[in-house]
Amino acid sequence: TMAHSKALLVLENFIGGKFVTCSSYIDSYNPSTGDVYCRVPDSGKEEVEAAVKAAKDAFPIWSSKSPLERSRILNKLADLIEHDLEAFAQAESKDQGKTITFARTVDIPRAVYNFRFFASSILHHTTECTEMATMGCVHYTSRAPVGVAGLISPWNLPLYLLTWKIAPAIACGNTVVAKPSEMTSVTAWMMCKLLEKAGVPHGVVNVVFGTGAKTGEALVCHPDVPLISFTGSTLTAQRITEKSAPHCKRLSLELGGKNPAIIFDDADLTQCIPMTLRSSFANQGEICLCTSRIFVQRGIYSEFLKRFVAEAKKWKVGNPSDPTVDVGALISEEHLEKVRSYVKKAQAEGARVLCGEGVDSLTLPSGNQKGYFMLPTVIAEVKDESCCMQEEIFGPVTCVVAFDTEEEVIKRANSVKYGLAATVWSSNVGRVHRVAQRLQAGLVWTNCWLVRDLNLPFGGMKASGIGREGAKDSYEFFTEVKTITIKH
Ligand code: NAD
Repeated sequence: TMAHSKALLVLENFIGGKFVTCSSYIDSYNPSTGDVYCRVPDSGKEEVEAAVKAAKDAFPIWSSKSPLERSRILNKLADLIEHDLEAFAQAESKDQGKTITFARTVDIPRAVYNFRFFASSILHHTTECTEMATMGCVHYTSRAPVGVAGLISPWNLPLYLLTWKIAPAIACGNTVVAKPSEMTSVTAWMMCKLLEKAGVPHGVVNVVFGTGAKTGEALVCHPDVPLISFTGSTLTAQRITEKSAPHCKRLSLELGGKNPAIIFDDADLTQCIPMTLRSSFANQGEICLCTSRIFVQRGIYSEFLKRFVAEAKKWKVGNPSDPTVDVGALISEEHLEKVRSYVKKAQAEGARVLCGEGVDSLTLPSGNQKGYFMLPTVIAEVKDESCCMQEEIFGPVTCVVAFDTEEEVIKRANSVKYGLAATVWSSNVGRVHRVAQRLQAGLVWTNCWLVRDLNLPFGGMKASGIGREGAKDSYEFFTEVKTITIKH
C-alpha cells in the first residue's frame, strides 16, 4: 500500500557529491523482524559509469593535495561519525541484525578509528634510498596514488569494513567508487551525508548501491578502475579474479576462514573459556575471524566441554536492540537455513550436538517471531573430514574435538583450505612460539583473540586471501611505486 511504501527508507546513490535516484530498487530486510524496511538502489553499468567518471574527474585535485591536508579531512570525518555514533549504531543493528551493544562498542568505534588511524599513518611513511658510489648514483623510491579504487565490502561488519578500505584509499590520494553489500547499505549512505561537511571534495568518495552480480561486476570490469579491494567470500573472489584478469587489475582479497582454537592442557581456562565463547559466537559467529574448530588436549577435554557448553547456554538470543542480548539475528533467512543445514549434516554423520540448534528451545519476543534467530550451537565428536570441520559456516556454530600431541594438532589445524586466523592457548611460552610459527594462518593470537594493532599486516593465507592490509601494507597497495636514479 502507499502508506506502507511511504514508511520505507529509500537509499540513493552518491555520485560526484550528489545523491541521485536509481531507476530500480531492491528490498532490504530487517533481520530481527523479517520485514522489508528499506529500498536499496539496484545500480547497473550506467550508475557505475557515472560514479567512475566522477571519481576520475576528482582525482587530479585530490591526488595533488598534501598528506596533511587529506589527513585533516579524514580526522574531521572521524569526528562527525563519532558525533553520530548512536544513530550509526542503531542503524547498523537494525540493518544487519547484530546486537546494539556490538554495534556501539565494536562496529562504529572501529569505523571512526579507521579514519583516525589512516589520517595519522599517512603522515609517517618514508621511502627508500640507496647509494651506488662507484657509479656516481643515488636511487630513491617515490610513491603516488593509483587512480580510481573500486571497493567492495560484505554484510557482516558493514561500515567497519567499508571504512577500512575507504580510509587508506583516500588517505593515499586515490578517489573511490565503493559498493557495500546490498543487504547492509544503510550506514554507508549515512556516511555519505557527512562527506561534504568533513571537507571531502565532490567525487572523491562515490557510493553505488546494488547487487554483486550487477553493480559489483560492472565495477570490477570497468577499464578505468585499476585496483579492486574486496572483502567477502572465496567464491566471489574467484569470480572477481576471473573478471578482472583481462585488465590485469591489482587485487586485494580478504576472504573466508575456518579458524582453529588450539587449547593445550596447561591453558588458563578461566580466560580461555569466555574468550573462546566470544570468538565462536560474537556477532552471531558472522566474523571472518570467528573460531569454528576447537581442538582441546585430551587431559582437559571433558572439563573444557562441560564448562564451555554450560557457558554457551547462558548466551541470550533475542531482540538486537535489547542491550542485555548477546546474540542477535543472522543476516537473512537464506543464510539461517544454510547455517542450520550444517548442524543437520553433522547430526546425520553421527556427531553430537551438545546445545543450541535442534536441542534447546528458543523463545523470542513477540515482535521477533519472524526474525532469523538461532541459538549458539556446540558440536562434538565430529570428524576432521566432515563439512562442519572443513567449510566456513559463518554462524553461531562451533565444533569441539580432542587431540593428543602438539605435532598432531598442528597438522590437523592446517588441514583445511583456509588460512586466516588461529588462537593458541597455553602457558608454555616456547610452545606458543613453536605452534604459532607452524600454523598456516595470517594471524595467530595466543591467549587472546581479536586484539588488533592496525599498524601490522592483516590478511589470510591459502583460500583466505591474497595481499595484506595495515598501515604499511595498505599504503603499498593503494600507491604505485617508482624507482628513480640520479647520476651526479
Ligand atoms: P560475498 O562474497 O557474497 O559478498 C561480498 C561483496 O561482494 C558484496 O558487496 C557483494 O554484493 C559483492 N559481490 C558478490 N558477487 C560479486 C561479483 N560477481 N562481482 C563483484 N562483487 C560481487 O560475501 P558476503 O556473504 O557478503 O560476506 C561473507 C564472507 O565475507 C565470508 O566468507 C567471510 O569470511 C568473508 N569476510 C572476510 C573478511 C576478511 O577480512 N578476510 C572479513 C569479513 C568477511
